[in-house]
Amino acid sequence: MEVKVLQCRYCETEMKETVYANYSLRCPKCHRVLRHLSDFGFGPVTPFHICVGSEVVGIVEENSNKYQLKFRGKNIELTKTYFEAVHEGEEYVADVLGMKLASVEFPVHFGRCSLYVYGESFEAPYENDHKIKNIHFDGELLIITFKDREELFVYHPKDIVSTERELRIQCATKVSYNPYGAIGKEGTQTYQYCDGKIRKKNRGSESVLAGSESEPAVLLKKW
Ligand SMILES: [Zn+2]
Repeated sequence: MEVKVLQCRYCETEMKETVYANYSLRCPKCHRVLRHLSDFGFGPVTPFHICVGSEVVGIVEENSNKYQLKFRGKNIELTKTYFEAVHEGEEYVADVLGMKLASVEFPVHFGRCSLYVYGESFEAPYENDHKIKNIHFDGELLIITFKDREELFVYHPKDIVSTERELRIQCATKVSYNPYGAIGKEGTQTYQYCDGKIRKKNRGSESVLAGSESEPAVLLKKW
């Protein structure tokens, strides 16, 4: 079995990842799902390994089209079949281990916007054009996914105003902009709020943003 080192893309925790044919992997620290892989479409989806970091906490198995979850020394019959049984098993495990994350409905009233992080934009004004694909909030982390595969992670957002013209997040502990290899864009930029200062990290270099403390952590302005 191949073992790799994996860093959580949400909280930077490092862990060992064992690669199975069918498995999911949650971060042991922030509990977010980092992997969900299976041979679905090509072969059986079981045995399906449910991992938390390097530890296998449960296995979904199939026996003559009956699915069961092996978890904490017990065999738990699942009611669903095939891929849905895998989801049922994962839900069960996450529930018992207290690792279920909330899914908070988040309103946004426009689909195309200019993006500013602490007053900074990543492009020239006429190119600051981002199309929102979706917004997901789990109570701690707000993820804005854009259509050209960029992502914005906003940790512990506070003082949020959402109108038809803008989405304004006044405070956050950390904001991370991931361009995902988009052409002509620089790599991940991280803004960390600490002791009233905003520290910006980009490719190993770090600087303090002066005079940006009053700017909203994130501002999306309708295009
Ligand atoms: Zn994590």
